[in-house]
Amino acid sequence: MPDFHSSITLPYAYPRNFTVPQFLLDEASHPLRPTRLPGSQWLIDDLTGRAYGLPEIRERVARLARAVKARWGLDAGDVVCIYSQNHIDYPIVIWAMHRLGCTVTGANPAYMAGELEYQLKETSAKLLFTSPSSLPVALEAASASNLFVPSNVVLFSPPPPETSSEGGCFPSVSSMESFKTTLGNFLTVQQLVTEGWMLDNNYVEPRSPTVGDTVAFLGFSSGTTGLPKATEISHRNMIAVMLQMSASFKANQPGLELEERWVRPGDRGLAVLPFYHIYGLAAILHAFLFAGPGVVVSPQFHLQQFLETIVKHRVTHLPLVPPIIVLLTKSALTKNYDLSGIRWVVSGAAPISEPVLQEFRALLPQARIGAAYGLTETSTLVSLFDMHKPPVPGSSGVSVPDTAIRIVKPDGHSAKCGEPGEIWVKGPQVALGYLNNKKATEETFLPGGWLRTGDEGYVGTDGNLYVVDRLKELIKVSGFQVAPAELEGHLLLHPYVQDAGVVGIEDDYKGEVPLAFVALKEHVARQAALNAHEAAKIKQELSKWVSDNRVHYKRLQGGIQFVETVPKNPSGKILRRVLRDQAKEITGGD
Ligand code: AMP
Repeated sequence: MPDFHSSITLPYAYPRNFTVPQFLLDEASHPLRPTRLPGSQWLIDDLTGRAYGLPEIRERVARLARAVKARWGLDAGDVVCIYSQNHIDYPIVIWAMHRLGCTVTGANPAYMAGELEYQLKETSAKLLFTSPSSLPVALEAASASNLFVPSNVVLFSPPPPETSSEGGCFPSVSSMESFKTTLGNFLTVQQLVTEGWMLDNNYVEPRSPTVGDTVAFLGFSSGTTGLPKATEISHRNMIAVMLQMSASFKANQPGLELEERWVRPGDRGLAVLPFYHIYGLAAILHAFLFAGPGVVVSPQFHLQQFLETIVKHRVTHLPLVPPIIVLLTKSALTKNYDLSGIRWVVSGAAPISEPVLQEFRALLPQARIGAAYGLTETSTLVSLFDMHKPPVPGSSGVSVPDTAIRIVKPDGHSAKCGEPGEIWVKGPQVALGYLNNKKATEETFLPGGWLRTGDEGYVGTDGNLYVVDRLKELIKVSGFQVAPAELEGHLLLHPYVQDAGVVGIEDDYKGEVPLAFVALKEHVARQAALNAHEAAKIKQELSKWVSDNRVHYKRLQGGIQFVETVPKNPSGKILRRVLRDQAKEITGGD
């Protein structure tokens, strides 16, 4: 089998005997871990500049774990949901839950109640952390799920000031008082951290030679087909990403001059991409903290604030998605800021066009800029651009250490260099499977450790991976997943709709947007056929039906097309290729 193996094989095992915090927070030494200066900042709150170093992180994690154990008695295997923007305490919650043996699932804070309810039910979550702005929706979803009472909802609060004698773990009374008035009776993370200080140790951390194989995170992905599924990402998967990323950075390679290393003391990476998505969670938060850069935690993307953040926090490492790069290249604002401190930028989560990358490189000539490819099912990274070599046009990088890629042609045979086919991946970062979904797991996670990605690509003679198309149903809007099956299911609930098929169409800025082909019920179709005004009203109604119930990027921004029937094969499967071709004809795409 001519599989393509990464050029780097690490001389270290991917350990199974640690949870994520045991490896990241407790295991001070690992050959791939750069030594940090004492007192260095690990997490930095973008808005206030408040920073946590390792001792304070460990203390906050331990206290929160104790308080949660005392109040809710969670046990190993219980699931906790975080429905929030990025927050400096977001990782504190993650690692505290891991200390209790719990699994964490992050939900998009822009989700509407129905979408969050789906995630809560799929994961049987027992406790919900959210932010004040997301509280009303969180409560609606929590109550609809029948899994929660409001006292199982905890709020993020502003980070405490640094001045207290206990290492900043305590808020000042005045800041807590003013915050309390806006939050009613809901507990906050900070209150729990304070409470945990007074408690004796009341939990036993899970330890065993195979604790790393337990599920650390449930990340949502629709995979190759169907509805979003909870992907089981183990502690070892996450540790693998940390090691692979650190090795790719040559963060701690002996004999390398400081200038040759892509991570140096004092470096800072910007986490503006969300921690609920695997990219922000693994390749940014965890991998950066292990490989060296401190992480500036930013709650949301806003161009001007983003540029100010880069300058203010002297950001060196910038992991991005294509729409942000497009915006940076097109906006006149970018040139007003001194971005010369940036040394490394990666674009991931969706394809990026080469001309855009080139334009961006011209803006930041001092930086190494390239693409990465990965999936939730691979705990992010499959390939990453080689930052030690000149850019390779069109490439999504070379496979990260200890990762094999197989390109499978439609006839089932493995492809040679340069031949396209479906990308299969094998490595320590391949997730365990989908929670409670044996069928989808068996279809995607194959015997021998191979993962079918549902993406099409080829590997060049130089080992670079080129992703050329998506074979699976998934639509990616600005890097966010949109599962056609979810929108089709929702459209079918509308009384006008007989059948529906959704596909993505190209969009210059967002990459893709969803377009729906809808077959109307007979009497409605007759009305629409008779009267153009009536047809427009029906489209408006269906569009609103989606936008009232789904997060903004799932809206039918590609429009609605009425059809007599949605084309299907004899077993009832939607012929998406036919719909995609029809969509191209309509939109004039090639
Ligand atoms: P997610 O699980 O949300 O990270 O989505 C994974 C999917 O995003 C992949 O299966 C690809 O279809 C797409 N994707 C990620 N990175 C790239 C890339 N560099 N080029 C093209 N598509 C990508």
